[in-house]
Amino acid sequence: MALLEIKGLKKNFGDLKVLKDVNMKIEEGEVLVLIGPSGSGKSTFLRSLIDLETVDGGSIAIAGESLCKDGVYVSKKEKAKALSKAGMVFQHFNLFPHMSIRKNLMCAPLLNKQGTKEEISKLAESTLAKVGLLDKIDAMPSTLSGGQKQRVAIARALMRNPEIILFDEPTSALDPEMVGEVLEVMKDLAKGHMTMVVVTHEMGFAREVGTRVIFMEKGSIIEENEPNEFFENPKSSRLKEFLNKVL
Ligand code: ADP
Ligand code: MG
Repeated sequence: MALLEIKGLKKNFGDLKVLKDVNMKIEEGEVLVLIGPSGSGKSTFLRSLIDLETVDGGSIAIAGESLCKDGVYVSKKEKAKALSKAGMVFQHFNLFPHMSIRKNLMCAPLLNKQGTKEEISKLAESTLAKVGLLDKIDAMPSTLSGGQKQRVAIARALMRNPEIILFDEPTSALDPEMVGEVLEVMKDLAKGHMTMVVVTHEMGFAREVGTRVIFMEKGSIIEENEPNEFFENPKSSRLKEFLNKVL
């Protein structure tokens, strides 16, 4: 089953056409890496998928659950069903500074009545262990490094047991020495067959972990391929130009 199916997605900010007829299908276990110049619509695209932006046309379905069809959104209840299948990790981790890591992880599941307090607390422990930070469970966010905070943010996304996780430049705000530990956690998720869409400038990660790479520019998909072909044999002049700048 396609875990993400996007057809004819359109999004405008006033006169600015930010997404122009974007089509994409992502199968279970794929790690799709999305690259492109700043302002090409990558963040808007990911945000649209989890209803942080309202699109102006097209269809989105997550794990078989529709979020919108031909620009018409489903009911609130159906929306919640679709959105429960996806997690997102942002460039800035947005942890609540006044709450312990445990409480940060428990917050949304408690609101969503995902289980009893005890069950959710246990889940927070096992999930934090997956990103190697169980020893920090009762620490406050301010005592963690940037890399550790981002690993907590990944754990927070995992708490809802998502079928797909979207990452928007998860390592761009980190000091260089902390990038590796976050990429390692993402690599582990990929090994565990988590389906992922990753917007990143980490071309090494794209090559090594990506199953497919997409180049987006000015709101359109320009080129896509499996990583080796994509980097070794780019077809369009725009991708060639972009790769020359970033590699
Ligand atoms: P990327 O993530 O690829 O850098 P974005 O999706 O953030 O690109 O932005 C795409 C375009 O949409 C940019 O021109 C940006 O200025 C514009 N944009 C993004 N968010 C808004 C907004 N809330 N209001 C108006 N314009 C926006
Ligand atoms: Mg962005």
